[in-house]
Amino acid sequence: MRAKHSRHSLLARYAEQLGSIVQRNRAEMALLAAKQEAERSADFARAAMIEAQAADRAKTQFLANMSHELRTPLNAIIGFADVLRGSGTDGGLTQRSAEYVEYIHGSGCHLLSIINDILDLSRIESGRQPLNEEILSLPDLIQSCLSVTAERIAEAGMTVEATMPPALPDLLGDARMLKQVIVNLLSNAIKFTPRGGRVTLDSMIGDSGDLLIVVSDTGIGIEAAHLSQVLTPFWQVDADLNRSSTGTGLGLPLSKALAEAHGGRLSIASEIGVGTSVTVTLPAARFRDTAPETEPGACPVALAATIG
Ligand code: ATP
Ligand code: MG
Repeated sequence: MRAKHSRHSLLARYAEQLGSIVQRNRAEMALLAAKQEAERSADFARAAMIEAQAADRAKTQFLANMSHELRTPLNAIIGFADVLRGSGTDGGLTQRSAEYVEYIHGSGCHLLSIINDILDLSRIESGRQPLNEEILSLPDLIQSCLSVTAERIAEAGMTVEATMPPALPDLLGDARMLKQVIVNLLSNAIKFTPRGGRVTLDSMIGDSGDLLIVVSDTGIGIEAAHLSQVLTPFWQVDADLNRSSTGTGLGLPLSKALAEAHGGRLSIASEIGVGTSVTVTLPAARFRDTAPETEPGACPVALAATIG
């Protein structure tokens, strides 16, 4: 009787052990299957990423080649149109031909600036555009941006005020690129602000010691839902003032890419009907302490205070 009982309990223990072995095996199999599935997904994601990177490189290469191929004949068109412009009606052109030559020249220049923007953007995005770094004086940089846009500011019948603290250190950066950023932002502010509006260009040192360059306007503003879209190439808000204004939708994405190439960033704050404020932040590491020391807390200096 006791032998029968102990055989029974032995069998029960075996059955229990067998059960737990089967359970463990099942769990291990499930784990293995999950691991294989995870590896397959990782392989798939890696392959997709490699494919996307190759497609992106091909796109960038295509844009760079196309832009280059287009620029060469375009330069010839602009060059010859310029020669004809120089000869004018005295050189045998009729009044109407002289006007047409003006159109050819103007359109050619406009097309060239679009192609240059595309080329710049594709080079910057692919990291193939090295910075031509030099020590820059910020007041000089800002002043030259105001000079470039002075005619547009005057035509738009508005005022632009530029301020900065009196003793900003010099800056290590690519003058052409930084000028392009500020001119793009000023052009937008002028373009999207109705007559009589106000545009400001303020440079300051932020709390973290970075340089902030802020272009603000009292213009039409950008809807919150469009704030990230305006940073994608060729994207433009489909509004009345927009439709009547020229442009390609490359200024902001290019400015963002140029700021990032300097280790900085670009951010936009805007409110419909109130205005827009675009801030370019350049890291404190770009400061080079060559400017003369002045008293701390001095009043901001107004640069080219009012134009137009
Ligand atoms: P491009 O700069 O290539 O000549 P664009 O000015 O239209 O053309 P972006 O500078 O990239 O292109 O700007 C994209 C869009 O963002 C503009 O078309 C406009 O809809 C909107 N936008 C940009 N800046 C402002 C601003 N200051 N106020 C209102 N809308 C703006
Ligand atoms: Mg623009």
